[in-house]
Amino acid sequence: MDMLDDTPRGKSNRKLDAYWMPFTANRQFKASPRMLVGAKGLHYTSDDGREILDGTAGLWCCNAGHGHTEIADAVHRQLLEMDYAPSFQMGHPLAFEFAERLKDLAPDGFEHVFFTGSGSESVDTALKIALAWHRARGEGSRTRLIGRERGYHGVGFGGISVGGLVNNRRHFGTLLTGVDHLPHTHAPEHNAFSRGQPEWGAHLADDLERLVGLHGAETIAAVIVEPVAGSTGVLVPPKGYLQRLREICDKHGILLIFDEVITGFGRLGTPFASQFFGVMPDIFTTAKGLTNGAVPMGAVFTTDRIHDAFMNGPEGTIELFHGYTYSGHPIACAAGLATLDIYERDGLLTRAASIAPAWEEALHGLKDAPHVIDIRNLGLIGGIELASRPGAPGARAYDVFTACFQEGCMIRVTGDVIAMSPPLSIGEAEIAQLIGTLRKVLERTE
Ligand code: PMP
Repeated sequence: MDMLDDTPRGKSNRKLDAYWMPFTANRQFKASPRMLVGAKGLHYTSDDGREILDGTAGLWCCNAGHGHTEIADAVHRQLLEMDYAPSFQMGHPLAFEFAERLKDLAPDGFEHVFFTGSGSESVDTALKIALAWHRARGEGSRTRLIGRERGYHGVGFGGISVGGLVNNRRHFGTLLTGVDHLPHTHAPEHNAFSRGQPEWGAHLADDLERLVGLHGAETIAAVIVEPVAGSTGVLVPPKGYLQRLREICDKHGILLIFDEVITGFGRLGTPFASQFFGVMPDIFTTAKGLTNGAVPMGAVFTTDRIHDAFMNGPEGTIELFHGYTYSGHPIACAAGLATLDIYERDGLLTRAASIAPAWEEALHGLKDAPHVIDIRNLGLIGGIELASRPGAPGARAYDVFTACFQEGCMIRVTGDVIAMSPPLSIGEAEIAQLIGTLRKVLERTE
């Protein structure tokens, strides 16, 4: 059956059936669609002509807000100059220039950048680099990968294997073998309503010692974690947790991978989360904010130590048998370079540091709002957990999400957690609007 969109600006019987939407309840959506048709600054425009405050930077990607002419111009210019260049055995200047600029932004020691097309591709790339690195150094027995419960690392087979979201895994067969999961760090009994990093839970990293004991360090290639888990309900690492993980990895020669797909590009008030926490991984992944969401792209950063181990083979051999048709795509590089210019010009990569206290204060002001059982935050990330409606997990948060949209604010929900990650350019007035709308909606939600 074709569903027709008959909203006022739905413009003449738009058909909705053909597009199989990702991570969406398609039938529910198509019965009452929410259509966005424009975006400028901090706002989307809906197809019925309403301004919607973007409380999520799209999907954690439009860190500089929307509709930048510099990005549009750069993309347009590059399209006319050269739309595409083969990424294998051919180069084009923008990819090299973009990698250099990114390297300068990254923590000291991250000297190399491998381009991908998305966060999921970045994760699979990082895992493959970790496995191949051990092999290149004569430690091919290190094939096990360790993720974490409630981890989200995109939707490739590597990413869902190390990921810890049951729904993302259980429909898809046996996945990668040789994968274990550390416990997640969500502990409301100790940490509810923590502001910033919770006090309790650094020792949860010690579970890595258990896995080393179980399998032997010589079988373990890498541990991958999100420094702050976003998509799984905003889980902020307890104080000392990431440091502990780093120590145990070092002790046993295990690589540490940070998945910085959402924390990269200023979300915590530093370019990357590793700089915020003062903990350096061996490899880290990015995407999203890399091009301000304007063109799909991801990037994996590595140190000399990782990269150089691949560079020892005979001249003329391909060092890493991996890459994508769209690795370093000229249009994405053009968008990315223009994005970095905007981030730097507007001080956006550090802005979260100055606005975070106001964000935290406003967010925690909802502590006494109906249904709220926890509030979590770090940088410009906020999570508000609601009590589940009996027998219908996620239903209450979904109602809040749709009501907020009607009231002119875009939030995101994952289970019964409201997750927010506004553009880094958000001001106190918009924060007040977002939180005020949430309060109003929560007060009338069943
Ligand atoms: N890793 C993390 C931590 C993410 O949050 C996401 C996306 N939300 C991904 C990987 C996957 O990125 P993509 O959807 O671009 O494949």
